[in-house]
Amino acid sequence: MASTLTLTRNARERGYAVPAVNVLDDLSLRAVVAAAVEARSPLIIQISVKTVRSIGTELTTTIFRLATRDVGIPVALHLDHCPDRSVIDDVIAAGWSSVLFDASDRDLATAERETAEVVAQAHAAGVDVESEIENIVGVEDGVGSDVALHGYSVEELAAVAERTGADLLAPQLGTAHGEYHAAPVLLPQRVRDLAALTDRPIVLHGGTGLSAADFRAFIDAGVSKINISTAVKTSYMRSAEAHLAQARAKDKWDPPSMFRDISAAVQAAVATHIDEFGSAGQA
Ligand SMILES: [Zn+2]
Repeated sequence: MASTLTLTRNARERGYAVPAVNVLDDLSLRAVVAAAVEARSPLIIQISVKTVRSIGTELTTTIFRLATRDVGIPVALHLDHCPDRSVIDDVIAAGWSSVLFDASDRDLATAERETAEVVAQAHAAGVDVESEIENIVGVEDGVGSDVALHGYSVEELAAVAERTGADLLAPQLGTAHGEYHAAPVLLPQRVRDLAALTDRPIVLHGGTGLSAADFRAFIDAGVSKINISTAVKTSYMRSAEAHLAQARAKDKWDPPSMFRDISAAVQAAVATHIDEFGSAGQA
């Protein structure tokens, strides 16, 4: 299992971002890995709390280990937005690469204290920690809020990170989870300001719906991990929907051929992002 911190530090030095892609099952996991292998890109596979609860930590870990064995590219396994310490305990014990401890629902003092505890626990097991203490707007798999409740200055963010020892930082950058219904006000300058205060890799959430130029502006400003979730869900479900419409028209019901269609659609969506993030050929 690759180190999330090593992958993102390399990316920051070399001027690209590592695609960090949420998967839902073995089918989407294998499609995302295939896209990264094809492009020779480093990769971070992300699992939401909802998904790890539905599949189970042990099965998720085993599927990941078997699906990424001997693929010839570095792949990390990361727990996405997790405010629940018991789930973090589980994946640290299972030896995942990293966790996002999402303390954005706590006040600053509590967020800092709990993040420091999670960092100490994770580091003792060789696990990296992404820290989120500001809200990233939008609800993703049942976690999050549509209202920005907690926001701080970049100086505060850098100081808290220094005290907690968190490895990666997920600040509010104007993006949101889910589909955009209005054009977002993006904040690449905030990345530049934060990157001037800390060398910790900076993570962009809510990547689905941004243009190639938006991604480039964020990467040039210092973002080295970009999260993609909604694009996988929509390509997965729309290809399934198209397949089922055809199956109904022909009255021909063959699940493996639907899996092939879904896999091709997810792989194509991720390949586009790998191109945009500049990570092709970096594995
Ligand atoms: Zn997120």
